[in-house]
Amino acid sequence: MFEVRFHGRGGQGAVMAAQALAEAAVIEGNYAVAFPFFGAERRGAPVLAFTRIDAKKIYSKTQVYSPDCVVVLDDSLLDTIDVVAGLKPGGSVVINSRDKPEDIDLGISVKTAAVDATSVALEILKAPITNTAILGAFAKATGIIKLESLEEAIKRRFGEKLGEKVAERNSLAARTAYGKTVIGKSKGIKKLEPKKQWLPTYQELPAGGSLVEGKTDAGLIGPGSFIENKVMGWATFRPVRDREKCTMCLLCWFYCPEGTIVRISDRGDLMTNYDYCKGCGVCANECPVDAIKMVRARV
Ligand code: SF4
Ligand code: SF4
Repeated sequence: MFEVRFHGRGGQGAVMAAQALAEAAVIEGNYAVAFPFFGAERRGAPVLAFTRIDAKKIYSKTQVYSPDCVVVLDDSLLDTIDVVAGLKPGGSVVINSRDKPEDIDLGISVKTAAVDATSVALEILKAPITNTAILGAFAKATGIIKLESLEEAIKRRFGEKLGEKVAERNSLAARTAYGKTVIGKSKGIKKLEPKKQWLPTYQELPAGGSLVEGKTDAGLIGPGSFIENKVMGWATFRPVRDREKCTMCLLCWFYCPEGTIVRISDRGDLMTNYDYCKGCGVCANECPVDAIKMVRARV
């Protein structure tokens, strides 16, 4: 059996990727299952999805704890999640990154395939939805499925839900990423440090943040959990405000869902706390004088 674990963020399409991969395997005459793991997610939060492929019927229903391949749709996850946990000996990692495999530190040296799937998605799909591009890299890195089967699966799955044109573009994204994928070995230096100990001061908290510590069944919430909720790593774009154009109408401040736009009363100005800006672009959409531009933040 070949087991795959997808690490992504809500909105990047990890679940669709797992399903399309399973469909490609079925097209090639195999058995396959795909399923997600959801917590209390919202757009941008880390999510997991899994695919199992076998020539025989698959009865296992558990999450994939010892994957043959790990697919990472967003390399900012490397800062907080040990994506290679449980990776089988001889396993591989497929990652969305602008870096070459030998510059990517996964904590262990393993076969790694890297592709700038975000740029491929932005160019072809006009949105940072990296699922089909990363599948192209998966096909090249593992050889478990043929690119043609993958394209067929993408056309079927996306065609049903989103129409033929979108399906064609996603198929092209997979093919383009296949051609751009670089295969090598990762660095194995860093140790993933748990970051929960960090406690912010009250000035660093976004509006609505709580300083009261609370213990729940899911663990500690409150100030000690804020490092996990720093959402800057989620953002593909970040807002930049043109002070000359800005009329201080405060619509952006009002509509920002993260409460990360702060009024500086003594200067009569606004400031964006990028630590908690997830790059959703609501502020830019709401600005009546087009004073906010969304610019590329990272891969
Ligand atoms: S992009 Fe704008 S609205 Fe969205 S979180 Fe950042 S500051 Fe707030
Ligand atoms: S919505 Fe636009 S004009 Fe209004 S405060 Fe924000 S940036 Fe300035």
